[in-house]
Amino acid sequence: MSARKKARIVVLGGDGIGPEVTAEAVRVLEAIATRYGHEFAFESHLIGGAAIDATGSALPSQTISACGTADAVLLGAVGGPKWSDPNATVRPEQGLLALRKALNLFANLRPVSLHPALLDASPIKADILRGTDIVVVRELTGGIYFGEKHRTEDSASDLCTYTVNEIQRVTRVAGKLAQGRRRSIVSIDKANVLETSRLWRSTVEQVLSSEFPDVKLEHMLVDAAAMHLIRKPSSFDVMLTENMFGDILTDEASMLAGSLGMLPSASLGAATLGVYEPIHGSAPDIAGKGIANPYGTILSAAMLLEHSLGLSEEAEAIEKAVAECVSKRVFTADIAAGGAAVTTKQAGDCVVNRVLQ
Ligand code: NAD
Repeated sequence: MSARKKARIVVLGGDGIGPEVTAEAVRVLEAIATRYGHEFAFESHLIGGAAIDATGSALPSQTISACGTADAVLLGAVGGPKWSDPNATVRPEQGLLALRKALNLFANLRPVSLHPALLDASPIKADILRGTDIVVVRELTGGIYFGEKHRTEDSASDLCTYTVNEIQRVTRVAGKLAQGRRRSIVSIDKANVLETSRLWRSTVEQVLSSEFPDVKLEHMLVDAAAMHLIRKPSSFDVMLTENMFGDILTDEASMLAGSLGMLPSASLGAATLGVYEPIHGSAPDIAGKGIANPYGTILSAAMLLEHSLGLSEEAEAIEKAVAECVSKRVFTADIAAGGAAVTTKQAGDCVVNRVLQ
């Protein structure tokens, strides 16, 4: 059993179903603290639309400083129709981007694996999905999204830039991750046309061969990767890619799992501090009804224990508890497919009870 750990965890519930799902993940973390003898202190702060309403900013300075000094950050989701005016100068998602930037979180991890009980929830055939267990590592703070932008009346351009250092650091995250898994990385680029991709390819090769010689590397063009992800998802272990390709491929990969509500994510930097959140949004259509699926956020809490607090056994205890609840078909409406559905709180109760057993 791991040594007794003290940790300060900032909780940013955000908007819509965000506070509902983070509340369940906090209860699960409290159960972990009870069972394993840790001391977790939780501190709630504002982000997104809720922060705009209260302070006029999507990421108040108080939130940034609380997150910067925390051991980890658990986030729900931001946004909603109330703040979606395209002409507004302050928007909820600015809070998320600013938080990642302020904490220098350059690697986004999105695991996608499928519980056998959920094989039929995906639009892809069960035979193709069986055995799927992927982590996509996406570079998060460079590339075309952050390059110089120009616009004239009849033309526009977005500059895509990567430095060797930006590619090296995200490759190291992927390398370490692969060493704890099946030791295989597919690095995705468009090296047949893009100069940034050619730099990406040679840098990834250099870092992995010198620092992770036990990890097998394959390069794949992004168009081929998009196809193989649907044709044979079980062939991938770790997929490593740049910002825009990662943005698109992670959404494609999320469809393998059937429901957005099941999938966690982690955004990591050079130190242990990270931001952990489900991949879904604030789901305004079901907010306030108590029916949102909390499993993706609870699994994000497991990633928090593993990556920020170094508590692998505890992380596994959460993953096992969620898998047991799913096996017992403790399903919220999004995965119940018209069958009996439980509430957000009942799904949380199921995981808490199993953690405490
Ligand atoms: P969404 O993920 O919020 O919802 C898409 C659909 O999935 C909805 O039908 C919703 O009810 C369902 N869904 C999502 N999460 C669920 C859960 N945990 N349990 C059950 N059902 C769930 O995406 P959207 O509707 O495109 O966006 C809504 C708002 O969320 C927008 O304002 C958008 O900008 C924002 N958003 C935020 C994030 C984030 O905070 N990281 C990500 C995506 C979208």
